[in-house]
Amino acid sequence: MNQRHLGGKASEISHRVIGWGRNNFQRYPWRSTDNHWLALVAEIMLQRTRAAAVIPVWNYWEQSFSTPQVLMASPHQSIRESFKSLGLGWRVDFLIKLAEKLGAREIPENKADLMKLPGVGDYVSSAYLSLHAEVRESIVDSNVVRWISRLTGIKVDGETRRSKWIRELADEMTPVTGYREYNYGVLDLTMTVCKARPLCARCPVAEYCASRQQFYDV
Ligand code: SF4
Repeated sequence: MNQRHLGGKASEISHRVIGWGRNNFQRYPWRSTDNHWLALVAEIMLQRTRAAAVIPVWNYWEQSFSTPQVLMASPHQSIRESFKSLGLGWRVDFLIKLAEKLGAREIPENKADLMKLPGVGDYVSSAYLSLHAEVRESIVDSNVVRWISRLTGIKVDGETRRSKWIRELADEMTPVTGYREYNYGVLDLTMTVCKARPLCARCPVAEYCASRQQFYDV
């Protein structure tokens, strides 16, 4: 493909990802919660952390810190202790500040207001809105950057996540309806198939991929 616009292929890729995602959906507990606070907490916990490591910590938070008010009333020591296995302890400070800021308020359902909250950046806001709040947003994390780089054959570096072209391609592939299913499909595909050592023989979008030959026998 080797181009910065996918043309008519974008919607075909979206459909393939959605179809694959339905059959390969990863049933993490935060994906079925109705608790918006805990959904936002999950997206913050998942930054730079494997989902498998997040499961026991998130389950504990569901039992112990199920609202911002409950968290604020809990000893900071016990909050920090619960987070220890995840590392990146600075996230606990953000979560405590986030709880203080939110209190009994509803979580904002637009990106600009959401990103004013402590610990909520571009990825967390897009993931929260599209997966838990029925707002269309495309998601771009390091796995998605790697996937789009392989699809297009365009080399990327540490700054690519913020570049206009990759955001435009991610947006082009994110459907107007079905964006939630698509985003879950992309997260699961880039985590389990188009991973560091990709499993191209199992890939639903291999026929559109500029890097398929390069990786086919890996
Ligand atoms: S064909 Fe391989 S490299 Fe290309 S998107 Fe699929 S898994 Fe990734």
